[in-house]
Amino acid sequence: MELADLPLREDLRGRTPYGAPQLEVPVRLNTNENPYPPSDELVADVVAEVAEVAAELHRYPDRDAVALREDLAAYLSDSTGVPLTGANLWAANGSNEILQQILQAFGGPGRTALGFEPSYSMHPIIAAGTRTEWAPTPRRADFSLDTDKAAEIVADRRPDVVFVTSPNNPTGQSVPTEDLRGLVEAAPGMVVVDEAYAEFSSRPSAVHLLADYPDKLIVSRTMSKAFAFAGGRLGYLAAAPAVVDALQLVRLPYHLSALTQAAARASLRHAAETLGSVAKLAAERDRVAEALGGMGFDVVPSDANFVLFGWFEDARATWRSYLERGVLIRDVGVAGHLRVTVGTPEENDAFLAASKEVGR
Ligand code: PMP
Repeated sequence: MELADLPLREDLRGRTPYGAPQLEVPVRLNTNENPYPPSDELVADVVAEVAEVAAELHRYPDRDAVALREDLAAYLSDSTGVPLTGANLWAANGSNEILQQILQAFGGPGRTALGFEPSYSMHPIIAAGTRTEWAPTPRRADFSLDTDKAAEIVADRRPDVVFVTSPNNPTGQSVPTEDLRGLVEAAPGMVVVDEAYAEFSSRPSAVHLLADYPDKLIVSRTMSKAFAFAGGRLGYLAAAPAVVDALQLVRLPYHLSALTQAAARASLRHAAETLGSVAKLAAERDRVAEALGGMGFDVVPSDANFVLFGWFEDARATWRSYLERGVLIRDVGVAGHLRVTVGTPEENDAFLAASKEVGR
């Protein structure tokens, strides 16, 4: 029996799942993780916290994750200077689940979500899963976002949800906060700024606009990238408390396990130390970009922990050449380009050595 034999929803037939290859190779630079593992102190703290909640695993977790949301609010307020409370925060299993809950509440059948492509490939997949019509809108040829044009398109198309990824995955550029205003003002519905890579960016967060657009703006974040907590699965958002009320209508009860909540809180206590790697990674990103440029590649300027580069006649074949040299990078489906995540200096050196051999 095969998938095609099942009574699957018609609109899911023929689709392919999200699938970054998970391969055992020496240098893994394909999913934009932080290459530095948690410190011994952090690991010990997570273990201690988890041991404590393990004694109560017969009970459901705090359904509203109140303590974790307060910790996230404290972190976000501290790092942005924008006062936020636990009522402004919501958390889920990765920001993918956050985005899914947003579309469950504000998208759905008969509704449309619009995004500026190329961008994060899960946005249209989550739209499909929630039966939200997807309206792809192109970026400029250099992958930057023309926010004036974007505002015009949004005013014309009137989508229920707009996604702006900043810094954008897989291209790396971020949008100046002030340029977002016109877009938010033009939008009749919700605007989701996906800030998964915000800690790597030199620009201020869109949370600065929350007070001005409480009925429209949602800022989505994750602990998977700069926070080095991808395996822990913790995404969150900042928005007006009423938006959080809306998401509670669609979230599954007890979606965030007691183990996840405990581990995330322990990890947040070590935020300063973990985020110490951000400056190092940003410097490595600039070194990698410059070295690639020096080798004659076209490099898209990046404000995140990855770099999109090209031009390749056959990006798939080049991706394979890297893999043969023990370096796993990402073919994101952008014509002529590949994306590399910034790793440790040693990993980046291995990638650059392979780049010299692979050529263009
Ligand atoms: N948004 C963007 C732009 C991403 O690149 C990613 C991860 N690749 C996510 C959201 C989701 O990450 P997570 O579910 O791990 O928070």
